[in-house]
Amino acid sequence: MSVDPDLARLVVQLISDGKVEQSLELLAKHYGVSVPRIRVGLPKSRRSQVLGCYSAADQTIYVLDSEKLKDPFVVLHEFYHHLRTGVDKRHRGTEKLATTFAGKFIEESHALRAHHSFKVQYAWVNTADENKTS
Ligand SMILES: [Zn+2]
Repeated sequence: MSVDPDLARLVVQLISDGKVEQSLELLAKHYGVSVPRIRVGLPKSRRSQVLGCYSAADQTIYVLDSEKLKDPFVVLHEFYHHLRTGVDKRHRGTEKLATTFAGKFIEESHALRAHHSFKVQYAWVNTADENKTS
């Protein structure tokens, strides 16, 4: 599954800025699925040390604490399970695929930022060269 770089950048930024609901609305719209709910605190059945989990029964992403609400990796990993169960209730996708999905978003958002800073740097080097030769 390829990830749109502009979407990745926006979604990662929204989550980091504490606008997780907005990011989930955007993701749901993009992938054509319902908007999942998100709650702080794990359900009682999941007291093991996990950072987050997804419940297909109530279409809710649960995160360990309020800090994890701002963690793009956790939110995107759990959104992947929502995405998969939206397609087929019996298949939440593997942990590996959920992690790959989240990783791609973060990678794309970083790649774009790196690309922008590269362009700025490149423009600066060119200007410096022109100054040198003129
Ligand atoms: Zn998972």
